[in-house]
Amino acid sequence: MNQETKTHSLRSVSATCQNCKGQFVIDAQDFQFYEKISVPPPTFCPECRMMRKMVGSNERALFKRKCEAPGHNEELISRYPPGGGDVVYDQAYWWSDKWDPLRYGREYDFSQPFFEQFFELKGAVPRPNMNITNSVNCDYCTSAINSKNCYLVSGAYFSQDCMYSNTPALCRDAVDTSICIFCEVLYECFSCTRCFNLRFSAYCVECMDSSFLYDCHNVSNCFGCVGLRNKQYHIFNKPYSKKDYEAEMAKMDLGSYRTLQMVHARHAELIARFPRRYMISKNAVDCTGDNIEHAKNCKFSFEIRDGGENVKYALIGGRRLKDSYDVFSGGARAELLYEANAIGSERVFFSTGATDSFDVRYSMTAFGCAHLFGCAGLRNKEYCILNKQYTKEEYEKLVPKIMAHMNEMPYVSQRANGKWQIVYRYGEYFPPEFSTIAYNDSMAHEYFPLTKDAALEKKFRWRDVEEKNYEQALSPEELPDHIKDTEGDIFETVITCGHRAHCLHQCKGVFKIVPKELEFYRRLRVPLPRLCPECRHYERVEGKRRYRLWHRRCTCLGSHGARGKGEPAYKNSATHFHGEQPCPNEFETSYAPERPEIVYCEQCYQSEIV
Ligand SMILES: [Zn+2]
Ligand SMILES: [Zn+2]
Ligand SMILES: [Zn+2]
Ligand SMILES: [Zn+2]
Ligand SMILES: [Zn+2]
Repeated sequence: MNQETKTHSLRSVSATCQNCKGQFVIDAQDFQFYEKISVPPPTFCPECRMMRKMVGSNERALFKRKCEAPGHNEELISRYPPGGGDVVYDQAYWWSDKWDPLRYGREYDFSQPFFEQFFELKGAVPRPNMNITNSVNCDYCTSAINSKNCYLVSGAYFSQDCMYSNTPALCRDAVDTSICIFCEVLYECFSCTRCFNLRFSAYCVECMDSSFLYDCHNVSNCFGCVGLRNKQYHIFNKPYSKKDYEAEMAKMDLGSYRTLQMVHARHAELIARFPRRYMISKNAVDCTGDNIEHAKNCKFSFEIRDGGENVKYALIGGRRLKDSYDVFSGGARAELLYEANAIGSERVFFSTGATDSFDVRYSMTAFGCAHLFGCAGLRNKEYCILNKQYTKEEYEKLVPKIMAHMNEMPYVSQRANGKWQIVYRYGEYFPPEFSTIAYNDSMAHEYFPLTKDAALEKKFRWRDVEEKNYEQALSPEELPDHIKDTEGDIFETVITCGHRAHCLHQCKGVFKIVPKELEFYRRLRVPLPRLCPECRHYERVEGKRRYRLWHRRCTCLGSHGARGKGEPAYKNSATHFHGEQPCPNEFETSYAPERPEIVYCEQCYQSEIV
C-alpha cells in the first residue's frame, strides 16, 4: 500500500446517490480499488449503477429492419430497433474489411461535453445486427460467442443446440434455461451447474437424471426434492429402493400436461415449506450476494460461476474474473474491469462489449483493441480517441486533457423528472437517456421492473408490444394433453399464449413451435408448452431476479423450528448448535425482510438438509 491509499483506507463514508437520492456506503476497500485504477469514487448507489448499465442492453427483443450496408437494403433481424438511432449492418458485412470504422473518426471538441460527442459518434458508426462472434447457425441469437446451432438464445457462450435460453455457458441441448453452466440435456432449469439430463430444476450442482429439484448437490435419480446432498432414489425428499423408485417413476407420466401441473404444484408446496439458504453458494469463501460458485472475496455479487476473486457489485460473471467492480456480464480471465461488460480483457472502464482488449475507456464494442477512449465498433486498433487514430505520444497527451475537460464541462442531465439534475463527470458510466432501447426491452426491466407510467416518468423510452391476433390460432386448451398425441405438423400452427398478452412479459399473444423444438419435447417426453417463449422466460425468472442485499437475522427459532411470514411453521428435524434459543447468526441476503420464505443461516440450513 502506498502513502496515498493509506489516507482513504482507514475510513468508510456514506454518500448520497445522485440518481435516487438514497444513501450508500463506500468503504475502505472500495477506496483502495478506486485509487488503484485512478477513478473518482462513485456518485450513484450500487443498484442505480447496475440499472444504468443494463438500460443499454437488449438481450431478448428482435426487430425487423433493413440492412444499411452500402448496396444491401435486405431485410434482417436485429437487436437494435428501427428508428432508435443505430445504423445496422448485417453480421457478415460488419465483420468484413469492406468498411472502416475509423472513417467515422473525429477530432475532440473542447466546446462540447464529452458524452454528447461520444453519442454522436456512436449513432454514426454501424453496429452488427446481432452480437455474434465466431458462431455457426446462431442467426436468431441476440448474442453468441463460439456457439453452434442455437435458436432464440441470448448470451450463448461456447454452447451448442440450445433454444429459448439466456446465458447458457458451455451447455449443450438446453431448452428454456436461465444462467446455467457446464450442463447437458436440460429443460426448464435455472442457475444450474454441471448437470446432466435435468428438468424443471433450480440451483442444482452436479445432478443428473432427475426432475423437479431445488438446491440439490450431487444427486441422481431423484424427483421433486429440495435440499438433498449426495443422494439417489428419492421422491419428494423420501428415500426409495432402486426397484421401488423405478416402479413409482413408471406411474409418473410427465408427458401429460395435467400430470406435470400437479407435480409442479406439489413440488412448489414442498419448496415453500422448506427453509431457504440465505445465499446459494458452493466453494465461495468470504462472499456475499447470491448464486456464487468457486469464488473468493466476491461481495454484493450475483451469478458468479467458475472462478471469481476480489470482485464487488458484479452480476453474471466468472471464469476467473478478478479484481473488478461493477461488472454486468464479464469474465473469462478478465481483470481490472470497472463499470464494464467485458470478457478476456484487462483495464476496461465505463465500457460495454470489450473482448480480448486492454486499456479501454468509454467505448462500445471493441475486439482485440488497446488504448481506446470514446470509441465505437473497433477491431484490432490501438491509440484511438473518438475513432480517430493517434500516435502513442499524442494519445497519452490528449487523454488527460479530455479527462480534465469532462470535469470542467460535465454533461448535465435533466432526468429524474426534472426534479433534480444529474452531473456526469469523468468516472460516470454512460447516461441512460442515450440508450436506443426501450426500458421494457432492456435487461434493467428484468431486475428493476417498472410500469410504463413509472418508466416514462423517469424519461425512459417505452415500447408498446404489438399484440398479434390470428383467427385460426389454437388456444392452449385445444392442445393435446399428452406429447404422444401431438401431430407432427404442429409447428405449422399458430398457438395462443396462455397469458394472452395480459401480462408484463413482452407477450405478443401467440407463438409457434419449431421442428427442432418438437423433436426435443418428444425425445424428453414432455408436453408442449402453453406459454410463449417470453412468458416462459419471465415465469422462470420471476421472484428470483433481484439485485439487492438486506442485513437480516436467521429466522430459526431453535427447537421449535421457524415460522415464515404467512406460511406454515417449519419444524426442525435436528438439534441445532444454538439449542433451544433462537439462532443468533446474521447475514446479508437477497431475501427482503417482508418476503414470506423461512431464511436460514448456513449452519442451520446444513443441519436440516439430508
Ligand atoms: Zn441510487
Ligand atoms: Zn406470452
Ligand atoms: Zn406473460
Ligand atoms: Zn441460524
Ligand atoms: Zn437453527
